[in-house]
Amino acid sequence: MFDNLSEKLDKALHVLKGHGQITEINVAETLKEVRRALLDADVNFKIAKDFTNNVKEKALGQNVLTTLQPGQLMVKLVKDELTELMGGDAEGVNLSGNPSVILMSGLQGSGKTTFSGKLANFLKNKKTKKPLLVACDVYRPAAVDQLHVVGEQIGVEVFSDRGNTNPVAIAQAGIAHAKANGHHVVIVDTAGRLAVDEEMMNEISEIHKAIKPEETLFVVDAMTGQDAVNTAKAFNDRLDFDGVVLTKLDGDTRGGAAISIKSVVNKPIKFIGTGEKMDAIDVFHPSRMADRILG
Ligand code: GDP
Repeated sequence: MFDNLSEKLDKALHVLKGHGQITEINVAETLKEVRRALLDADVNFKIAKDFTNNVKEKALGQNVLTTLQPGQLMVKLVKDELTELMGGDAEGVNLSGNPSVILMSGLQGSGKTTFSGKLANFLKNKKTKKPLLVACDVYRPAAVDQLHVVGEQIGVEVFSDRGNTNPVAIAQAGIAHAKANGHHVVIVDTAGRLAVDEEMMNEISEIHKAIKPEETLFVVDAMTGQDAVNTAKAFNDRLDFDGVVLTKLDGDTRGGAAISIKSVVNKPIKFIGTGEKMDAIDVFHPSRMADRILG
């Protein structure tokens, strides 16, 4: 995961660690390398610039040059800043409803249906909850079939209504079904498009308004870099979602989306997807991710 970024940051900080005497020039050079590594990982220019400015300010504030182990302190400052940028403490999903409704949003192909299954499986295993999956994609019958396959695989009931072309009505009927049948959590999978368009946005906002979910998650493919960040912004402007799910982190992603998304939409990354299988889901912990990136 983020091998390239890890390698470059390691190199940047290694230079500094290797020096006996650390000077202002070393620190400036290191931060320049750190910034370059972030830009290479597809982190937006302003975020990368603010990142290194913040680290520099903290380094000056803590008199990094006069401490015993300036290299180690610099690594710590970079790690802390990375953690902060990715979201501080990990946050869970809101399960206070009866049932709790979780609405999935995102583009087609982002991994919504797969993640809906993973989350249902996760909640079923970890919290002894009885989830219900609801299929609201009225455009692609294959998407409904896919959710049924996933549900069967994990032993979770799937609610669908193939003749119905109104996703709001299906979502509402799914929630009523959950209430009547003792489900604690309802996960509503919705239709995505290949790119952001007005029709999709109107549809997902209508569903959102009608069902008032406890939790709205935005699912995005981490491999799409800065596009992921732009799409997140478009969805957040309309939905004011609660959290982000970053999928496909097992792929050859550069890491830009993971690092930038929180500071652009000011919403936490809550989960990551690390594979196609139903157990390839992890709760996102910014500090653990920063540890991983910095090795
Ligand atoms: P949707 O259109 O948003 O519902 O997306 P899907 O759930 O159908 O996922 C699109 C493709 O991405 C499928 O082939 C999934 O198996 C794959 N996929 C989803 N999540 C992950 C992940 O975390 N890692 C990998 N490698 N593939 C994933």
